Amino acid sequence: MENSNRIKNLPPYLFAEIDKMINKAKSEGMDVINFGIGDPDQPTPQNIVNKMREAVQDPTTHSYPSYEGLVEYRKAVSNYYKDRFDVDLEPNTEVVSLIGSKEGIAHLPLCYINPGDCALIPDPGYPVYKTSILLADGNTIMIPLKKENEFLPDLAKIEVESAEKAKIFFLNYPNNPTSAVANLDFFKEVIAFAKKYNIIIAHDAAYTDIYLDKNAPHSILEVEGAKDVAVEFNSLSKPFNMTGWRIGWACGNKDVIESLGRLKTNIDSGIFEAIQYAGIEALSNSKKSIIEMRKLYKKRRDLIVDGLTKLGWNIKANKATFYLWVEVLEDLTSSEFSKKLFKKTGVFFTPGIGWGDYGENYLRIALTVNSDRIKEAIKRIEESNFIYNN
Ligand SMILES: *Cc1c(COP(=O)(O)O)cnc(C)c1O
Repeated sequence: MENSNRIKNLPPYLFAEIDKMINKAKSEGMDVINFGIGDPDQPTPQNIVNKMREAVQDPTTHSYPSYEGLVEYRKAVSNYYKDRFDVDLEPNTEVVSLIGSKEGIAHLPLCYINPGDCALIPDPGYPVYKTSILLADGNTIMIPLKKENEFLPDLAKIEVESAEKAKIFFLNYPNNPTSAVANLDFFKEVIAFAKKYNIIIAHDAAYTDIYLDKNAPHSILEVEGAKDVAVEFNSLSKPFNMTGWRIGWACGNKDVIESLGRLKTNIDSGIFEAIQYAGIEALSNSKKSIIEMRKLYKKRRDLIVDGLTKLGWNIKANKATFYLWVEVLEDLTSSEFSKKLFKKTGVFFTPGIGWGDYGENYLRIALTVNSDRIKEAIKRIEESNFIYNN
């Protein structure tokens, strides 16, 4: 059976080799401490689990849901945007439920990209942006995120020809993997750029509530007129430890929301309603657990930053997301560095090349490992005499 070109042309899964290496080491008895996992290690807060338990007992939740989501769920999203960002969203036309934000991100290009059309994709970046364009037979124009620009795209450096060709621009702040945060001025520039060149801004805000200092990150929809060109993808996965539940949403420009909804009626049949009721509970009544979650990640971050700084690593505390983005030296690739450290210590930090060419010379350390294991990892690195700067 011959695969379609669409499948054949998907880039190889760069982490497959890593998974193999980790599994092999485990099977040989190595006690692996894996900082590679972008999935919260804590359980979903109890009030949300209780709501699910109650909702699943109600047989009215057992039928096909509506593709666009319960109006109560979309209202909860709208209330959350008002409360958190002072952004008004009309629940019936400006919000659509998603089976996790990844689902919406992967489907959006099918609504706007004809074969050969272009999209602007951040590098490094969440791999789904690029593959979603390739699956729609589109072309990707990679936009570097560099340290000297605080990992924001330099809009002035995007060639006019590229901007004129592009139909979608994916952005993600707070950013995975670099942990960069965008301020409102940057979002204003993005919206002006999108209007000038007639581009849809698809902003992935999966980490907007995972912030570890006083300043809460902004929604791009806070910018005046943003809804003319932008949609924001958001998710319950990361703030409420609900990655397995598969619930998120897209909101913003009503034409884009309508198109995405129309596509989805032809592909899926929405989110299990019991899960939507649990989602309403998460959005409406879980501020306390978010505060606890931030404290936990902050404590872990400080343990790693303090521990590795003492060992001579050049490491900057992240202000948001649960990732540290750590520069490594140029004479080893990020993969070589990661592998060498792993072989010596059983501690795994993910090589940045997995998120794109501009991720080279970086490692991503996820704060999804508990404090005792963090201390153990630091101790092993210290005792191994592994030298950070060769
Ligand atoms: C985890 C993650 C998502 C996916 O979230 P789901 O809602 O679980 O699909 C989207 N974007 C980024 C950048 C992520 O890290």
